[in-house]
This record gives sequence, structure tokens and C-alpha cells, in this order.
Amino acid sequence: MALVTLSGYPCSGKTKRAHQLQAHLEKRLQDSSYAGPKLKVVVLSDDLLNLDRSAYDDSRSEKPARGALFTAMQRQMGADTILIVDAMNYIKGFRYQMYCAAREFKLRVCTVYVVATQELCKQWNAEREDGRSYAPETLDNLLVRYEEPSSMVRWDSPLITVLWTEEDVPIDDIWKAVTEGNVKPPNAGTQAVPKAPTDALHTLEHTSTALVSAIMAEQAASGGVGGKVTLSVSDTVKPQITLPYRNVTLSEMQRMKRQFVTVHKKAITLGTVEKGAVDWSEASVAEKFVAYLEENLKP
Ligand code: ADP
Ligand code: MG
Repeated sequence: MALVTLSGYPCSGKTKRAHQLQAHLEKRLQDSSYAGPKLKVVVLSDDLLNLDRSAYDDSRSEKPARGALFTAMQRQMGADTILIVDAMNYIKGFRYQMYCAAREFKLRVCTVYVVATQELCKQWNAEREDGRSYAPETLDNLLVRYEEPSSMVRWDSPLITVLWTEEDVPIDDIWKAVTEGNVKPPNAGTQAVPKAPTDALHTLEHTSTALVSAIMAEQAASGGVGGKVTLSVSDTVKPQITLPYRNVTLSEMQRMKRQFVTVHKKAITLGTVEKGAVDWSEASVAEKFVAYLEENLKP
């Protein structure tokens, strides 16, 4: 039904907001004036998955933790569920992947940005007595790496912001997003499913292969120093990508490509489209693959 992605600094009050939100949603779903489908509210968090705060101490342990969260998320997504993901969700590429998964399940989406100042987060982290504090240097590190959500990009919108000074979450806005937000009407199953362009599968395969070649060529030319580079995928498609500061091997790239193609092939064959637009153009595939690589290549 819907995916509500919380995002915010570590110790900014996300879990507190998740509890408020869950209580409001459950109350409205049980209210006699509610005439919609029967829904359950599910909250997922690092704590509920027993992921320790120390997982964020270094990127080697952080990736599998994020992977576990993503898998759990996909398992819970469905037509009968409002899923609240109470985690930092601080990487743009990760939020993008959540959004793509939600679209594949035909869910409505909404991002709730939980805002507190860095000083307050540090203070609340230090004051915590439930053993769920971050190590101070991990907290500093996460504050620096945090990638703020933006209402300008489709995967973060609608974006609803809650400030630390606010007593409660803006439930009317969130309720509207999860119950009326932009998704195909419930009878979409009986309508003709818009077909992705017949050459979409070809573009997917071809563009991701070209992008792998462009990365290998770029590495050969620069000596594999990594960092931000511009790739030449075709005459018109020249995406920027931030590569890890090391040499990326061809077999690693091919594995990434296979995973990426498998995931999106499914979406194409099912005829899934994002917000009505059938966009399997070269540029769009390249943009998606770049986001996927930035998120999944080991540092
Ligand atoms: P997160 O889930 O983002 O790590 P929590 O919801 O667990 O954050 O809150 C972290 C700590 O900060 C808790 O001890 C909580 O009581 C406190 N806290 C959260 N939000 C506020 C607020 N708006 N004002 C005062 N204290 C807060
Ligand atoms: Mg929390």
C-alpha cells in the first residue's frame, strides 16, 4: 500500500517520530469513518532487526547491515501494509533504491525528514542510557556523510519535514500521502497495463554494458585513481559517477551489471512504470545504473 521512509541524523528523534506516526495511523485505520482497505502498520528499524549501532563504525559492516534492512523491507512491502522504515536512510542512492522497490510493488511513497541540529543529536546521543548510543567519532562521521533529502527529486517526494521543536508529526499530510498519493487507481489490474517500449530490454542490456566499458576505459586512461569522473556512454549520454578510490575489476563490474539488469528486467517485463512515465531511455538507464553502482561498489 505505502512506504514511509524516515530520514534524519543519528539520534535526531526518528524512532520517537515512528512511534507517534504508527499510533496515529493505527487510530485512523480503526476509526469508524475510515472506509478504505484493511491495512496493517509495520515498523522496521535497526533495533527491531537487532543491528547494533557499531555496524555504522565502518563501511565494511555498514553495507551488510543496510542490505539486511533492504531485504527485510522488500519482504514487508505489500498491498495490505503501510511500512514505516525507521532508519537513517541517509544515502541518496539507498533512498532511490527503496523508491524503485516501492514502485515495483505499486506502493504510495512519502519521505519524512526528521530534523534536529547536530548539537542536539550529539547531546541526545551522549545522554542516552539504553545502550543505543553511537560512538562519538561514528556519530561525527555520519553527520558529515548525511545526504539531505530533497523535494526536488522524485524519490524523496512528497517530502514532509518535522522539526525537533514540534510536538507531534504532521499526520494530516502523511495520511494524505499514504492514502491518496499518486499511484495507479486500485482497479489498475483490470485496465490495460502500459507496456514498456519493446526495445526497453535491449536498452537496459546495451546501456549498462556500455557503461561498464566506459568505466573500464576511464580507469585505464587515468590509472584507476577513482573519485568523481565523467563517463562517455554514448554521444549524448555522459553521466558523472563517483568511483571508489581503487581499481575496480572487470569481473566485479560484470557482477554488478548482472544484478542490476536482473532487478530491472523484472520491472520491464511486468510493465511497471514510474509515475506514469515509461522512461527506459538510455539516459534514464545510465542514471539508474550509476546510482546503483555508487551504492553497491565496495569502497
Ligand atoms: P533516533 O531514532 O533518530 O536515533 P530517538 O527517537 O531514539 O532518535 O531519540 C534519541 C534521543 O533523543 C532519545 O533519548 C529521545 O528521548 C531524545 N529526543 C528525540 N527527539 C527529541 C525532541 N524533539 N526533544 C527532546 N528530546 C528528544
Ligand atoms: Mg532509532
